[in-house]
Amino acid sequence: MTRHYNFCAGPAALPAAVLERAREELLDYHGRGLSVMEMSHRSAEFVAIAEQAEADVRELLAVPSNYRVLFLQGGASMQFAMLPYNLLGQGGTPNYLYTGIWGKKAIAESRHLAGAHVAASSEANGLTAVPRQDDIVLSSDAAYLHYTSNETIGGLEFDYVPEGRLADGSRVPVVCDMSSSILSGPIDVSRFDIIYAGAQKNIGPAGLTLVIVRDDLLERARPETPTMFNYKVMAEHGSMYNTPPTYSWYLSGLVFQWLKHEIGGLEAMDALNDRKAAKLYAAIDQCEMYSNPIAKANRSRMNVPFVLADDRLDKAFLAESEEAGLLNLKGHRSVGGMRASLYNAVPEAGVDALVDFMTDFERRRG
Ligand SMILES: *Cc1c(COP(=O)(O)O)cnc(C)c1O
Repeated sequence: MTRHYNFCAGPAALPAAVLERAREELLDYHGRGLSVMEMSHRSAEFVAIAEQAEADVRELLAVPSNYRVLFLQGGASMQFAMLPYNLLGQGGTPNYLYTGIWGKKAIAESRHLAGAHVAASSEANGLTAVPRQDDIVLSSDAAYLHYTSNETIGGLEFDYVPEGRLADGSRVPVVCDMSSSILSGPIDVSRFDIIYAGAQKNIGPAGLTLVIVRDDLLERARPETPTMFNYKVMAEHGSMYNTPPTYSWYLSGLVFQWLKHEIGGLEAMDALNDRKAAKLYAAIDQCEMYSNPIAKANRSRMNVPFVLADDRLDKAFLAESEEAGLLNLKGHRSVGGMRASLYNAVPEAGVDALVDFMTDFERRRG
């Protein structure tokens, strides 16, 4: 059996050690004679799995005790709708930073349900640099400020945590779509009011959505909020109002264990991610054949888009890289070119192999 290096943007690579552990436990979980997939979500075994996963994610991210950690479904895209339902009980307008395609989708959903004000945008620079704090102008009735810490398609990442400051100096909650950067390094959760992330990038398999919400925000839902959309209902039921995605939850828990015990926590992960990204960007910058347009301070560590100087070579690049065991390097269909996603589970050896391939490809074809 060979495992190739997978640079897919999502569903993304999972740590081989996690998949091996899942394989060992697949048919008979800890001598119980059944698979986690076949367990009641109310069983003592599964409740223990769920609680351990929450404890581990709290420990990894140092989540303060006044925040709730929810394990939901529907992906990050469902959060685009859940946010206006849960936060607009007292009215107001959602405010957004627009830095790429995912933010644009969040804005469109908000417009559809509740209106939206774009408080700052990267449109003028072609989505190649994020707005600075001083560029952010909230509407006077701002209910919250939403931004995307890492735009997965454009490869544009914030190098700071924006604040939701109104003209009179008061603050509005900051909501962050962290789907493609969560757990890539330590964060200060207290600087955010809500963090959410679809699991399939840096957490585990698709089907699970992590939401971290400060507990006082559970009281702001609009009365017509559907039960399944309501953070408070989900928090009161331990994210088990209905049947949760049990197997995704379990596998995500194994990833948290891997981060703690194999990697050594998020500071170690951070250093490794810095090294991986630096190697790939150095190759892109040093080779004539490749380029990446993003301002250096905002280059994404997790998703590295690049184009070939001659796009007639794209097909050959993709075919030959795949043959070399380097999978899923094709850029998003909306932007073309190439993209290498370097999530936590992509080993440094995979980046080394990619850099070797790119250097060799330039030598042969450049
Ligand atoms: C992938 C992604 C999404 C969409 O996630 P789904 O879970 O498929 O809805 C939203 N935002 C960002 C930043 C993403 O990377």
